[in-house]
Amino acid sequence: MVNTMTICYIIAMEAEAQPFIEEFDVQEVPGFFAPLPCRLFETQIGEHRLTVVLNGKQHGSDLVGCEAASVATLAAIQRLQPDLVINCGTCGGFKSEGAHIADVFIGNAVMFHDRRVPGDDAWGTQALGNYPVWEGAKALAKDLGFGMGKVTTGSSLDMQPCDLQIIQENGGQLKDMEGAAIAFVCSLFSTPILFVKSVTDLCDSGAETFEEFSKNLAAASLALRDANKRVIEYLIKK
Ligand code: SAH
Repeated sequence: MVNTMTICYIIAMEAEAQPFIEEFDVQEVPGFFAPLPCRLFETQIGEHRLTVVLNGKQHGSDLVGCEAASVATLAAIQRLQPDLVINCGTCGGFKSEGAHIADVFIGNAVMFHDRRVPGDDAWGTQALGNYPVWEGAKALAKDLGFGMGKVTTGSSLDMQPCDLQIIQENGGQLKDMEGAAIAFVCSLFSTPILFVKSVTDLCDSGAETFEEFSKNLAAASLALRDANKRVIEYLIKK
């Protein structure tokens, strides 16, 4: 990419980030984003700056979802001016698409699946989002041997029939609660975005999503740590 770069990870949940934070020994900069709830951790890797922004908490639980992710991304881009934003986190996958628990995928596209807005094509296009992802994502996935998938974002953990219909009609594969919101903010600044997603649950397995998610969160977070080690090594060698 560039000689000296700033990489900015945006991660929703502390549990998703913890193994990665420990691996890279990133240190918190307390109050950096005050009064916003998001939290900054950072370290230096050679001449490169590695930053991790967590959405933060409210009422004692992690702020998952689009609103907190948008706030964190806006603040992060304005304050840190990253060369690359990486949204790393867990997602629901689809058995029918060949996904398994704790698999790691790189996003090749991103959209919303729960914004049903009547009107002409322009409204529909805006509602779906379909924001650009970093042009280097495909080569990275190929070189590191990761599968790719289309990230599809909504505000709920469960999946209603109307969500599934939009996901299927538009080729969604990696169901999360932040990706498209983060990509939206990145698109406003022309900041490239890369998605690194690990599967905690299979949306078409028939299992109860929250149970599956809770059971597999730790394994998926370890898979994210291992994937991110390789992603960062790849990026700083570029
Ligand atoms: N109450 C849960 C909250 C988890 S919300 C808890 O306390 O642990 C799920 C988080 O994981 C979101 O940040 C979302 O991006 C991701 N996620 C994992 N599986 C998902 C799925 N099937 N659908 C939507 N988001 C999912």
